[in-house]
Amino acid sequence: MTTLVWFRQDLRLRDNAALTAALQFGEPIVPLYIFAPDEESIWRPGAASRWWLHHSLRQLDLDLQNLGVALCLRNAQNTQAELLRVARECGITRILWNRRYEPAISARDQVIKAALSDAGFTAISYNSALLFEPWSIKNKTGKPYQVFSPFWRQCLSLPDPPEPTPAPQRIQSVATAPHSHELDELKLLPRLDWADGFLAHWTPGAASAHQCLQQFLTDSFEHYQSNRDRPALRATSRLSPYLHFGEIGPREVWHATRKFAQQNGQHTTWRRSHFLFELGWREFAHHLLFYFPDTPAHPLRTNYARFPWKSDSGTLKAWQRGVTGYPIVDAGMRELWHTGWMHNRVRMITGSFLVKDLLLPWQQGAQWFWDTLVDADLASNTLGWQWVAGCGADAAPYFRIFNPTTQALKFDPQGVYVRRWVPEIAQLPDSFIHQPWTATPEVLKSAGITLGKTYPFPIVQHDIARLEALAALATLQP
Ligand SMILES: Cc1cc2nc3c(=O)[nH]c(=O)nc-3n(C[C@H](O)[C@H](O)[C@H](O)COP(=O)(O)OP(=O)(O)OC[C@H]3O[C@@H](n4cnc5c(N)ncnc54)[C@H](O)[C@@H]3O)c2cc1C
Repeated sequence: MTTLVWFRQDLRLRDNAALTAALQFGEPIVPLYIFAPDEESIWRPGAASRWWLHHSLRQLDLDLQNLGVALCLRNAQNTQAELLRVARECGITRILWNRRYEPAISARDQVIKAALSDAGFTAISYNSALLFEPWSIKNKTGKPYQVFSPFWRQCLSLPDPPEPTPAPQRIQSVATAPHSHELDELKLLPRLDWADGFLAHWTPGAASAHQCLQQFLTDSFEHYQSNRDRPALRATSRLSPYLHFGEIGPREVWHATRKFAQQNGQHTTWRRSHFLFELGWREFAHHLLFYFPDTPAHPLRTNYARFPWKSDSGTLKAWQRGVTGYPIVDAGMRELWHTGWMHNRVRMITGSFLVKDLLLPWQQGAQWFWDTLVDADLASNTLGWQWVAGCGADAAPYFRIFNPTTQALKFDPQGVYVRRWVPEIAQLPDSFIHQPWTATPEVLKSAGITLGKTYPFPIVQHDIARLEALAALATLQP
């Protein structure tokens, strides 16, 4: 008898519940990945995600081959039909996988599970992506949480999630491997050379995920809370793409953090560490998406559907390209374009600028992030954008409007981050780096800047834009 392990967003061998269960049968295993983007509704993987997926699948295949079995890749229109085809080709009896929680995918998976069972297969799904699955956390009245703090408090009142299982030493393969597409046939890499530079910043794959976690714990965990808002520092884990693709799981992060903190004397306080608190936001994002499946496109606070957004392709393009004239916004948008990632504080600043200074719909920002982030994740991206726009659960109130300049002065006081990503203004003294339009002509000249030519004037005046945003908000009041 043979077991099929259907890999999805769990591209790892350690702490992989479906693979661990399959190995317990002691029989051959067929590892399969099906690329069927058309089934992901409008949220098919964006260009940066595809780049990551390409490299991650190659790494998973190498890891599997080291254990004696190759990853079977299929490019498909219909996942259910493809699963049945591979299953029949290889004489499979069981099909195991780890759950995903995006609305379109989980609805599809329920249909697939029923169809496989009807066709006589044993079909079982597992949790490997979350510490606490959405239905295991409910408030006292049995309803989903909409505020983070009580949600996380309840999570922390539960026992630790299970310890991660080790990777297998060997995997038994079938006598005749099923036909597999070549990785290049999935056409995941962009046609433009835009993503070529990503490899200087990232090494997709499980081994790199573990290195990244260990390096973070050793170098940055201790000062995470105080440094995590400073975009110039490497003070956060950068685990987000690895967690999204499941090259490392949150249980592994949880237990590695526990062990590290305990070894460093934090025997009782580690559960309340700020790092796990942030991992809690990832759990909360999945909780919200599960219970409010329309939120990727529609505001959770329904009155925001009437918000008088502008439509302006010119300002949208300036934001996307990082030429708004606000250095911190431009630095963030260029970091995103060049590396496929942006620091969380700067995601908040650039997001706020789009919705509250440019008055452009948050959905346009979410769509751009979706296409350009290597960690694009439907749950976390939706939560982030609804938070920024003030229309989600536990969100920043709309009337609290970030001033991009004061944010920059607070979180990038010497302008190190801005100089890294906006080199054309790097020669400005610290006092002008976040507001070049306030510099005298002499200062601009000696820094080699001609505003409007080498660097733009601000495309909006923040003080005026702020008043306009508040007036727009007032139209929502009954
Ligand atoms: C507008 C906006 C859009 C966002 N889009 C995404 C997205 O598509 N994918 C994504 O993974 N994160 C998203 N985030 C959340 C956050 O910015 C990233 O998770 C974080 O910057 C990743 O860097 P890190 O791994 O170094 O995080 P760390 O600070 O090291 O945190 C550890 C892990 O906790 C989780 N986490 C941390 N902060 C958040 C948060 N605010 N919400 C949810 N999970 C969090 C991530 O999985 C992260 O890897 C978005 C935030 C905003 C404001």
